Amino acid sequence: MLNVDLHCHSNVSDGVLSPAAVAQYAYKAGVDVWGLTDHDEIGGIPAARAAAADIGMGFIPGVEISITWASQTVHIVGLRIDETNPLLLQGLAATRSGRDARGREMAAQLAAAGIPGAYEGALRYVGNPDLMSRTHFARYLIETGACATIPEVFRKYLTEGKPGYVPHRWASLEQAVGWIKSAGGIAVIAHPGRYKFSPVAEGALFDEFKQLGGTAIEVVTGSHTPDQYPVYAELARRYGFLASRGTDFHAPGESRAEFSLLPPLPSNVTPVWHDWF
Ligand code: AMP
Ligand code: MN
Ligand code: MN
Ligand code: MN
Repeated sequence: MLNVDLHCHSNVSDGVLSPAAVAQYAYKAGVDVWGLTDHDEIGGIPAARAAAADIGMGFIPGVEISITWASQTVHIVGLRIDETNPLLLQGLAATRSGRDARGREMAAQLAAAGIPGAYEGALRYVGNPDLMSRTHFARYLIETGACATIPEVFRKYLTEGKPGYVPHRWASLEQAVGWIKSAGGIAVIAHPGRYKFSPVAEGALFDEFKQLGGTAIEVVTGSHTPDQYPVYAELARRYGFLASRGTDFHAPGESRAEFSLLPPLPSNVTPVWHDWF
């Protein structure tokens, strides 16, 4: 069976490896078809595609778009996008544009909580000045000794009600799905099990996503716990969604899932790649 991994990050967003280094890392771990899905940014795709072609690994151009739905941040992955599509490029640029000011506000809150220098500190981890992310702050909080691990950071800081959390209004679901579709891509709800929606709200998200032309949800992802795999496989079946799979890799040893260890999709779902190769 092919190891198809359709969600991961390079240092063009909040991963630590360059796109070419992620390609090498994934290939060595046994990935056959690899999708790069940086947050709100497609700048890594040409280098990723070239590296994958050099190695002889399949490549899927992707992106992970931040949206706000029912007052929560939700991520929508676009797969098989044309990364030169002007509507997509404009939408992503607009999405990225608030990140720097948000980073400064996050740093001001952290300073008030006794952790100074977080803007400059986080910036040292940033590979793309357009894409300052909470992950970069998390790495700085570990560097200062405020926390030991990334999950600990997100338990104590940077999330709703905790120091360093700055609410942000991202794109709408309709916009994100529209940009992905105009770029010829397939829209996928990323790690649906990570959101804090009631079952009714989650169903409303799935219904609206489907109405807008979304066709898949992630089922097996490093951002789900293993007990969520069968739950979201069943929901994919119930809503008629295709199923996607990917590590959500950010850095060696930092993510919940390694490329070589992520299980295959359950056999009762249709993979999003069923008619690709
Ligand atoms: P941002 O787009 O700046 O809001 O940052 C979101 C990123 O922070 C996600 O893509 C993850 O990489 C990371 N993140 C958010 N919540 C968590 C969490 N609970 N555990 C680990 N990483 C997280
Ligand atoms: Mn991330
Ligand atoms: Mn995500
Ligand atoms: Mn991700």
